[in-house]
Amino acid sequence: MDKIRQLAQWIKEANTIAVLTGAGMSTESGIPDFRSENGLYAQEDHVEYYLSEHYYKKDPADFWRRFKRMFSLKMMGGFAPNDGHRFLRWLEEMGKTVTILTQNIDGLHTKAGSTNVIELHGTLQTATCPSCGNKYDLSFINRHEVPRCEKCQTIVKPDVVLFGGLVPRMEEAFAAAAASDLLLAMGTSLEVAPVNQIPFYVAAESPATRKVLINKTATRMDGMFDLVIYGGIGKTVASVRKQIQAE
Ligand SMILES: [Zn+2]
Repeated sequence: MDKIRQLAQWIKEANTIAVLTGAGMSTESGIPDFRSENGLYAQEDHVEYYLSEHYYKKDPADFWRRFKRMFSLKMMGGFAPNDGHRFLRWLEEMGKTVTILTQNIDGLHTKAGSTNVIELHGTLQTATCPSCGNKYDLSFINRHEVPRCEKCQTIVKPDVVLFGGLVPRMEEAFAAAAASDLLLAMGTSLEVAPVNQIPFYVAAESPATRKVLINKTATRMDGMFDLVIYGGIGKTVASVRKQIQAE
């Protein structure tokens, strides 16, 4: 059986699907992969230092100037979901219970209509005051070079997980992955801990869960999966959808 037919079959047989998504999921929406040749890491020095909990505490005003430049925050509102995001929404419409575990901070899964999204690395859409807990949205953040809480004047903190910060919903993600019939990893090179531990955890805790990876290139984790499809997300999911609808 070819790989597309195999995946279509497994999707049909699954009631519960956990989907792990990475930067490759959003590149087709025009958002660069931070680790790619033209990504943030290639363009900026000391990314992990300036985007850290430590640097936010040390110099929050300069932190914000750099943070905004690195993430081109103003543009963020303009990106739209692509066929990959819409495919996951469609799985829900088919009646599947879908939990999305995403490393992306762009909010595109929610924009596409997926209802159960765990944003493991947080979101760019909001910021929170560390003193009083007041929340602010992207338009507020964009209106101020250094956004300060309107209630207490503290410089707010973005709701993304910074380097040196905890990944707060990790246990929930592990549990959802292990409880699924199918774990589908899409557009992730599985280089970043602790997220890249999910396939190992599933293999140990839930041997019956089928594990599939769709990625443009080979990863060091390929051997952990029952099925690996090399290809772009949009093209691959279009073929899978066609296959599911044909049967
Ligand atoms: Zn405040």
